[in-house]
Amino acid sequence: MNNLHIVFLGPPGAGKGTQAEKWALEMGVPHINVGSILRKEMSGKTTVGNIITEYMEAGKLVPEEIAINVTLEQLSEIDSGKGFVLDGYPRTIYQAQALEKTGVNVDVVILLEVDDDTIIDRMSGRRCCSECGTTYHIKCHPSMAGNNCEICSAELVCRVDDNPDIVKSRLDVYHEKTAPLIDFYDERQILYRIDGTADSKQVFSDIHALIKFDNP
Ligand code: AMP
Repeated sequence: MNNLHIVFLGPPGAGKGTQAEKWALEMGVPHINVGSILRKEMSGKTTVGNIITEYMEAGKLVPEEIAINVTLEQLSEIDSGKGFVLDGYPRTIYQAQALEKTGVNVDVVILLEVDDDTIIDRMSGRRCCSECGTTYHIKCHPSMAGNNCEICSAELVCRVDDNPDIVKSRLDVYHEKTAPLIDFYDERQILYRIDGTADSKQVFSDIHALIKFDNP
C-alpha cells in the first residue's frame, strides 16, 4: 500500500490535510500539500506570491498555470515510484487532465464527504501555526501548548481565508469547479467515499480499511 498514488478530495475544511499527513507518515511517503506550498510562495512577496495572495484571500482558486506548475514541480522532485499523497490538487478537471498528461497515474482518490453547515462551523474554530502551518481546532483538536504550536512553539493564528464570508465563497468554488472531479474519478473507478464528519481517528481507520480491502 505504500507505493500508491493517492489524491485527497473534498471541500475546504473536510480534513484532507490532517488525513493526508497521517497517511503519508504511516506509509513513509511524501505528502504534497498544495495550499501550504502556495502559502509559502505568498510570504516571499514575489510577483507570483502577490497574485496568489490576491486570489487566496478572496477565497478563489489561484490561476490554473500557477497551481499546475507548483504541483508538477514538486512531483518531479520526488521518486513517485515509492508512492505519494496529493492534497489540494487537482481542484479542477483541467488540473486533473494536466496531471494525466504527465503520465503520473492516480491509483486512489479519497473523497471526504462533509456538508456545508458542518464545514462553516468547523472553519470558525480552526487555528494554524504561523510558522510550520500545523492545523488545530479550538474544540476538536486544541493545541496542548495553548495559543502556541505544539511542534515549533510559534503563535497560532486564524487563516484570513477561514473568515465565514470567505469560507462561503470557497464552498461555492468547490461545488462549481472541484465537485465535477467526483464523476471524473468515479468513471475511472478509483473514487472511495468516506464520511468526513466522523472524528479524525475514525476517518483514518475508515480510509485504511477501504484502501486495504482493494489494495491488499
Ligand atoms: P487549502 O490549504 O488546500 O485549503 O488551499 C487554500 C487556498 O489555496 C485555496 O482556497 C486556493 O486559493 C489555493 N489553492 C490550493 N490548491 C489549489 C489548486 N489546486 N488550484 C488552485 N488554487 C489552489
